[in-house]
Amino acid sequence: MATKRDYYEVLGVPKDASAEDIKKAYRKLAKECHPDLHPNDKQAEERFKELNEANEVLSDPEKRARYDQFGMDGPNMGGFGANGGYGGGFDFGGFGGMGDIFDQLFGGGMGGASARRNGPMAGNDLRYDLRISFEEAAFGCEKSFEFTRTENCDACHGSGAKPGTQPKTCPTCKGTGQVRMQGGFMVTVRTCSTCGGSGKVITDKCPACAGTGRIRRRRTASVKVPAGIDNGQTIVMNGQGEPGRNGGPNGDLYIQVTVRPHKLFRREGINLHLDFPISFTQAALGADVEVPTLGGGKVNFHIPEGTQNDAEYRIKGQGVQQLRGNYRGDMILHIRVEVPRRLNEKQKELLRQFADTATGREYEGRKSFLDKVKELFNP
Ligand SMILES: [Zn+2]
Ligand SMILES: [Zn+2]
Repeated sequence: MATKRDYYEVLGVPKDASAEDIKKAYRKLAKECHPDLHPNDKQAEERFKELNEANEVLSDPEKRARYDQFGMDGPNMGGFGANGGYGGGFDFGGFGGMGDIFDQLFGGGMGGASARRNGPMAGNDLRYDLRISFEEAAFGCEKSFEFTRTENCDACHGSGAKPGTQPKTCPTCKGTGQVRMQGGFMVTVRTCSTCGGSGKVITDKCPACAGTGRIRRRRTASVKVPAGIDNGQTIVMNGQGEPGRNGGPNGDLYIQVTVRPHKLFRREGINLHLDFPISFTQAALGADVEVPTLGGGKVNFHIPEGTQNDAEYRIKGQGVQQLRGNYRGDMILHIRVEVPRRLNEKQKELLRQFADTATGREYEGRKSFLDKVKELFNP
């Protein structure tokens, strides 16, 4: 086993740091190297474990005193079992820096309460599916939503013991959370089954949470959705998941964004695509048209003479705002030439006249498909 770093060094605090300073230093560092923020990063994971271990000792006055006296090899210095119960595996949907979209929205910190398990454990991450409109994604919005979260019980502050009573030191393990069993030369150490390893037993259960120390609660949060966010991307609200245990960091709240499709527009990155129907006369002769823009406006556009079906035209700057950038994409018009389904006699006559001129003189050198077929059979 590699030599361990000094716990004070790990937390970056002086030897005479106050309990409050230790707590602050731990929280700050634990957030920085929380494994959810560094997926597949072994080093970050190791660092996170190291931090939790240091915190477990230094945040406990008894263990700290023992550590100060005996150092790393002091009695009962090992035994750091739990490593944070983080889920991991989240897709950050292309976000670079997450800092500025985190909002601190909930009143009152979750900290303070501790239910004494083996070691600090990160709270569970939560996920919320947020559905927004196409325009809201393009222009950004602020959304309020409700979700359910497990929190520390207010009545017992998470201890699980009836208010006015305290969890008692476990008589089986004398508060160590472990039982040593000796058989011959073998000593095995097991988690105490009386207290489940917490070292404490609750004799009078808190009636509000039935002794669990936790309750489910509806919460309202609001999130700033940045302009340019796309379907499937995720916004992370740091520390808004479930509370950690024993000073472990809170979990995070992952907001998975689903963007509803638009009636007219399709989106590809920052560009918008629009099918734009025009009549065959507009296609042939050219026309000035009004093109709808996202958000309800209109822009003037000139369809050039002789436009073909499926032609594409680009209208600069009428796309979607780049996420976290100043650039705006373009709108791409896909021309759909509509052939009239019903014509009156006069219109038909005019078209027949057009057809006669077109196959004769006007289309010099350009043969219709039908003409080419005829030639195949009558060379
Ligand atoms: Zn309670
Ligand atoms: Zn016990």
